[in-house]
Amino acid sequence: SSRANAAGSAQRIKVSFEFFPPKNGDMESQLWDSITRLAPFQPDFVSVTYGAGGSTKKPTLNTVARISRETALAPAAHLTCVGSDKTDVDAVAREFQAVGVNHFVALRGDPPEGVGAAYRPHPGGYANAAELVAGLRAISDFEISVSAYPERHPESPDFATDIDMLKRKVDAGATRAITQFFFDNDVYERYVERVRRAGIYVPIVPGILPVHNFAQVARFSKLCGASVPERFARRFDGLEKDPETRALVAAAVAAEQVNDLVERGIDDFHFYTMNRAQLVYAICHILGLRGQERTAVGAAA
Ligand code: FAD
Repeated sequence: SSRANAAGSAQRIKVSFEFFPPKNGDMESQLWDSITRLAPFQPDFVSVTYGAGGSTKKPTLNTVARISRETALAPAAHLTCVGSDKTDVDAVAREFQAVGVNHFVALRGDPPEGVGAAYRPHPGGYANAAELVAGLRAISDFEISVSAYPERHPESPDFATDIDMLKRKVDAGATRAITQFFFDNDVYERYVERVRRAGIYVPIVPGILPVHNFAQVARFSKLCGASVPERFARRFDGLEKDPETRALVAAAVAAEQVNDLVERGIDDFHFYTMNRAQLVYAICHILGLRGQERTAVGAAA
């Protein structure tokens, strides 16, 4: 294999990449440039997010359909159950299946009013992600991933409630959890210990967010309950108007985070790419991955 980890040992690093559906032609080109650039790393799967508030399936459907048609990558479609009844959600899942999707990232979603607004299940809908997982399982033998929150979901009163929901999702048939992003590996490690103590044995794949824009990340972290350690914030301090240095620092910071996770025995990473390839490419390279550029279609610039 062309893969080996940074230390050169035989440990095989697995990666997956998350993209969001483009809103216009320019964003579509950016997305496809990024997919083409990252494809040679042979990710386990590439996932495409679903519109916030359960808004629209179309952009996600078009994107996974194109991935399925034009690449050798395995697409995973995010799917939420917010604001729809079960019949509609099931119909959407079947539409995804018809274009080549066999892997779902099953989520409850947030209310259309936004993160933090009180969640009300649709009267005829799946009440939470665990019910959605069961619904998908009833349709087909899909691969199903779900969310996990190393710092608790903002609506969870405590870790026990949070991990209980994860347990319900796994009992319903989820085979992998992908975490919300985090910047403190101790937080992740403590969380995984709690999860294992609760008798959950599926992989808890760390979700890594390379920082393209620190101010944005800080705002978003507040909303979704992820903490930003002071020493982490300090790294980006004063670089607001210096994108070049910021990118170098972001690569260094993310490399430090993933290398530390490798040292802790982690060999599977999910990257929130924000539809940009450069940082993720650098981090995968540092992880020891080497793309098969020469054989990849379209890789010749
Ligand atoms: P669930 O797993 O159903 O619940 C999350 C937590 O909320 C639980 O741990 C539980 O503790 C708590 N909770 C739920 N119900 C109750 C209750 N009745 N009482 C007490 N506590 C409760 N959103 C999108 O719109 N589109 C996407 O594509 C998308 N992709 C994501 C991918 C990942 C990897 C992650 C981590 C999140 C993603 N989200 C996405 C965001 C997600 O929709 C929100 O975080 C949402 O608020 C929760 O969805 P969930 O599936 O995690 O919910």
